[in-house]
Order: sequence, then C-alpha cells, then structure tokens
Amino acid sequence: MKSFRKELWFNVPTRRAFINITPQVDKCLRESGVREGLVLVNAMHITASVFINDDESGLHHDYEVWLEKLAPHEPVSQYRHNGYEDNADAHLKRQVMGREVVVAITDGKLDFGTWEQIFYGEFDGGRKKRVMVKIIGE
Ligand code: ZN
Repeated sequence: MKSFRKELWFNVPTRRAFINITPQVDKCLRESGVREGLVLVNAMHITASVFINDDESGLHHDYEVWLEKLAPHEPVSQYRHNGYEDNADAHLKRQVMGREVVVAITDGKLDFGTWEQIFYGEFDGGRKKRVMVKIIGE
C-alpha cells in the first residue's frame, strides 16, 4: 500500500474566507501515484474547516450570513472563551462547517458527486495555518 502526506499552507489576510483547494488536493493525488484508495483532507487548526460543497459565490455569501447569525463575531464579550483571544465565534463556526473530508480515489481521480469541490474555510485569519492531505491506497 502507498502512503502519502503533505501539508498545504494558508495565510488568509481577512478574518474569514472560503478557498477552493480542489486543485491542490488533485496535485497531491497525482504526486502520490495512488489510483485506488482514499484521501483525507483536514484542517490542522481549531478555527478553520475543510468541507465539500458547491463553488458558487452566492452560496458562500449565504454561509457567511448564516454563520454570523449562528455565532456572531461581535460583541466579543458575549463569549466566555474570549478575553486573551477574540475568536470564540471562529471555534463555533469551525464546529458547524467541520474538520475534515474523505474522498474516494477511483481510477486515479477524486471520485466526486455532482458539483462537489473541496474548500478551506477560514474563520480567524491573519496568520499561517495548515491543512493536511493524507492519501492511502494502491
Ligand atoms: Zn480560541
């Protein structure tokens, strides 16, 4: 069995953003040489997400509005976690949007459903963060 591991680095200048990382994951898959197997992609930080959905700007705006309703950034004093930090909302948003995705690899390709793409969700940007890509298979 082949095993491949790589870290993707991000430094998002804004507090929040959604970035389509499918091309980077696809590049990892080609580097791995795996034709049949699984790829795991997970955020290595507790204020960022990796999730699968549609690459459609209206939907991404809707996520932003929905997440701000669920866990508004302001006022930061509403959260017990805040004090030294101001990112309690980012932890909550990460929980909702998820930590990782797993995608099947079939015939050397990411075996997606219709319109599926992989995204990095940043909820507390302005610093360097990592995503791990782990690929196993033959
Ligand atoms: Zn925190």
